[in-house]
Amino acid sequence: MKVEFVLGGLNCAHCAGIIEEKVKKMEGVDSASLNFVNKKLIANIKENENVTEQIGYIRNIIDTTEPGLKIEVLGQGIENNSDRESKSESCSCSSSCSSSCSSCSTEADKSNSSIFRVENEEKLKIISIAVAIILSLSAYVFKSVLENEIVANALFVVAYLVAGYEVLGDAIRNIFKGKLMDENFLMSVATIGALIIGEYPEAVGVMVFYSIGELLESQAVSKSRKDIESLMNIKPDVANLLVDGEIVQVSPESVNIGDIIVVRVGEKVPLDGKVIKGNSMFDTSAITGESVLKSIKIGERVLSGVINKKSVVTVEVEKLMKDSTVSRILDMVENATSKKSKTENFISVFAKYYTPIVVSLALLLAIAPTLILGEPFSKWAYRGLVFLVVSCPCALVLSIPLTYFSGIGISSKNGILVKGSNYLEALRKVNTVVLDKTGTITKGTFEVSNVVLSDGVTEREIFEYAGIAESRSTHPIAISIVKYASGILEIDEIVDEKNMTEYEEISSHGVKMVYEGKKILVGNYRLMQKFGISYSESENSSTKVHVAVDGLYLGCIEISDEIKAGIAETIDKLKNIGIERVVMLTGDTGLVAKEVSDIAGLDEYHANLLPVDKVNLLEQIIESNGGKGNVAFIGDGINDAPVIARSDVGISMGGMGSDAAIEASDVVFMTDEISKMPIAIRIAKFTSKISWQNIFLAMGIKIIVLILSVFGLANMWLAIFADVGVAVLAVLNSLRVLNGDYR
Ligand code: ADP
Ligand code: MG
Repeated sequence: MKVEFVLGGLNCAHCAGIIEEKVKKMEGVDSASLNFVNKKLIANIKENENVTEQIGYIRNIIDTTEPGLKIEVLGQGIENNSDRESKSESCSCSSSCSSSCSSCSTEADKSNSSIFRVENEEKLKIISIAVAIILSLSAYVFKSVLENEIVANALFVVAYLVAGYEVLGDAIRNIFKGKLMDENFLMSVATIGALIIGEYPEAVGVMVFYSIGELLESQAVSKSRKDIESLMNIKPDVANLLVDGEIVQVSPESVNIGDIIVVRVGEKVPLDGKVIKGNSMFDTSAITGESVLKSIKIGERVLSGVINKKSVVTVEVEKLMKDSTVSRILDMVENATSKKSKTENFISVFAKYYTPIVVSLALLLAIAPTLILGEPFSKWAYRGLVFLVVSCPCALVLSIPLTYFSGIGISSKNGILVKGSNYLEALRKVNTVVLDKTGTITKGTFEVSNVVLSDGVTEREIFEYAGIAESRSTHPIAISIVKYASGILEIDEIVDEKNMTEYEEISSHGVKMVYEGKKILVGNYRLMQKFGISYSESENSSTKVHVAVDGLYLGCIEISDEIKAGIAETIDKLKNIGIERVVMLTGDTGLVAKEVSDIAGLDEYHANLLPVDKVNLLEQIIESNGGKGNVAFIGDGINDAPVIARSDVGISMGGMGSDAAIEASDVVFMTDEISKMPIAIRIAKFTSKISWQNIFLAMGIKIIVLILSVFGLANMWLAIFADVGVAVLAVLNSLRVLNGDYR
């Protein structure tokens, strides 16, 4: 069972890692992941465990690792999403890592008294930094102008205590909790060591800059959190429910299926539904990333999250809040970070070993030369202390998850839902794109172009049977036939559910059913062959739908589909960003496939495929690729779900795609356009580039400082830059993902 925790006031990336690690190791827990950015811990508790008991253990872990967090438990049958947003966070973070609590101050509810404490904490920190600087300056005056060493050193010590009381206090508290290797402890040891060997200004400097760095870092983190949150700000607040002709404002969660709501100009559509009165233009950019207004008319579906731009419409609600598009998007994005990229996993493993190794080296460096070579202790101790200052991997622990989360955030802003950081990583490596035809390359809205009738059969007759048989199918062909049929006949005339029996949809063949005792077959040549019916087909590139009733062949409906706009450009763009091979797989005939493939400019196509053939072919493609890159498959239908699941990166169409396909996929294109593919790949590449830049920046500078320090060339000032300076730079760098241009 999945349980979600919100850790209000969590601002320590390092502690977050420790909490996650500990919860993962619990016996009653299958898996766990903590998203530092939205402060959410998701734990999957094992089936046969007592959930309440396990939640208690998890609370205990959180409390002992990072005391004072406000823990909220969600997701245990709680469906009311608005709860999550409206709850205020208290910030009583013990600040035992590199970030202070400042970021909460902007987020939490203003009436919450703890905020004032947080704001005061921050002010206090700024004041203490200022006082420490003034004290140090006076110490310098005493030292160099008045030449009074004793007063100077005393002033330095006072400045040190003013700047570092918090770090020292936390370090002592943590020692009692058995947390030796945390940053406060390391900083305390380094600076106390500096004082002992007489490096007073350095000790003060480390504390002062460490505090400044903490402030900057928390500002940067809170900025990126806010940026990401505003990207995700697609949730509507109210629904205008129509009750007895009056509009009542209610929360979208309380609206039921079948209720009627009114959406005025400028308002967000709160729930998925069908327009039953009025026509308007809608801004769909929050959902699809497209800034062009979309016209939605009476009878058409409208998705939650889009903004009404032109005139009032009345909508019949078709989905509850929790199943509406907005909630589905938010859920996917929030859960996305639980599937971590290899880089993120590497960083958490690395962080575990980095600190103990650097600390051991520091000890060795401080002691060995003195013991073995008889070198002066203070000289080597100083070098060892420099090691301690750079021994926290905070820059990486903080910036890498932030980079990936930004990548996922900006993707969804562009109408691309990526269900995990690992898929973002997989997208980057795609070198082969495999596409389905109907609904993916083509619009899937077929037009009837010709009807070939057997002797004595009327057009009305063939469409009556075809319309009845297709009325239950969601295949694009079926929808188009029903639409055309209802243009010739009265809709009610066609469908009478009571009289239908033995309905069966045969994948890549068509449909079979019994209606008023008559056995109807509607589908392609394969379906006719399967039931031993002789048929005839003309040689052209339209899709053929044959109709037979009680073994008698009625004729063939020829329909053709339109290729989506801009496909050829998209294929060009894909080639330009390094995609080597673009392949189309289709259940349609070779003639149709060839025409589509030629127009789109594809490298190859395979026609007449059954769903199982598609899977086999995809496997062959993956094999022939030989691990050189990933194979992505883009499809829309139920019959594409197995192929989507089998590919390295499975992509579905969120708009008209079937639920099965969306469920099976790793990435969803909200606009149903493969033009999202180059954008998705660009975002993936840039995200990965930024995360590697951060790794090289952080590790490069730290390693340089470590090496310089061995030779006595680095001082503590440089070390403190390598620690907090680099962390700030890395966090700022990860923000670039949100501001990139990927078109
Ligand atoms: P694609 O791979 O192009 O998306 P599908 O695998 O969905 O196509 O379907 C392959 C073929 O099977 C279609 O071209 C059509 O001939 C036939 N078919 C599938 N479903 C239906 C249906 N409901 N009615 C008629 N024909 C169908
Ligand atoms: Mg299809």
